[in-house]
Amino acid sequence: MTRITELDTETVERIAAGEVVTRPASVVVELVENALDAGTESVEITVENAGLDLIRVADDGHGMAREDAALSVERHTTSKIRDVADVERISTLGFRGEALPSIAHAARLELTTKHEESGVAGTRVVVDGDEKRVTAAGRAVGTTVSVRDLFERIPARRKSLAQPKREFARVSEAVTGYALTHPEVRFSLTHDGRNVVSTPGSGSYTDAVLGVYGRETAGESTTVDHRADGIEVRGLLVYPSITRAGPTHVTTAVNGRTLRDSTIRGAVREGYGSLLPDGRYPVAVVDVSLPPEDVNANVHPAKEAVAFHDSDAVANAVERAVSGALSTEDLSRTADLAL
Ligand code: ADP
Ligand code: MG
Repeated sequence: MTRITELDTETVERIAAGEVVTRPASVVVELVENALDAGTESVEITVENAGLDLIRVADDGHGMAREDAALSVERHTTSKIRDVADVERISTLGFRGEALPSIAHAARLELTTKHEESGVAGTRVVVDGDEKRVTAAGRAVGTTVSVRDLFERIPARRKSLAQPKREFARVSEAVTGYALTHPEVRFSLTHDGRNVVSTPGSGSYTDAVLGVYGRETAGESTTVDHRADGIEVRGLLVYPSITRAGPTHVTTAVNGRTLRDSTIRGAVREGYGSLLPDGRYPVAVVDVSLPPEDVNANVHPAKEAVAFHDSDAVANAVERAVSGALSTEDLSRTADLAL
């Protein structure tokens, strides 16, 4: 199994650092990325009071052994990179070893986990201020992290937040982005007892779009799966009979990292070409995969952007994939869906 180690100073200094936890959505993003890195098939997110009272993320990934669980909440400890060379070829969503300690600093954190290779009981780690308690706990293989009373100890941070409604909208937007770009993973988001997002994890983009946007949008769509010159473009394109005023509903990911990428968004629009009225944008989901050494994931303090070594190549691949997929479709026809 891959163990957690502390990064050396050179590696820590190389990592684009910044404040990790600024609002409820940033906690949700970090915990969901950890679940995906652990190879989960299901992510269950429970939020109360826009995340200020509770954020709980449960996965069925590989989990952590007891020693690793205890280390995971310390600063600069990670199982995802070893040294400074690894920063140039990041293939996981996390790599900084900063999320869990930052969350533990900003809130009360409780983590229960059980590793897939450990026959014995699981582990519970509770961090409350400077106190850390590690005990045995019953759990199936996987990890659950609960974050309570976010920013209660940091009143200035809490005051800088928007209204709860707006903060929850950011949480929901983030989860929706992951759910759309990871159709192989089942997602559920519940807010104050109400289910907000639910996708089945069937592996089909159409099913994920159905769970997020509903039947009308999913029915008017075609999938794209195109590979050329080492760049793979996968996703779903909604027919141009449904358009939006801005690019917000062009959901993009790079190597499974969900982010708003303007190169990809622009290329998707180009790919639709004259099918779109002036100034209108499509609804689409596009995940671009390329070798980790062709993209720098370490350029933004909140990991919200990446830099392509050859962004023209990426734009060309996306544009060709999109226009190709749309040209083989009879756009007046509604997709055959078993609805
Ligand atoms: P990073 O993700 O950058 O490594 P984190 O602070 O988010 O840093 O997590 C520290 C480590 O804890 C990870 O490298 C991983 O080994 C472990 N970890 C965190 N969350 C999970 C999870 N849900 N399942 C399995 N391991 C986890
Ligand atoms: Mg992480």
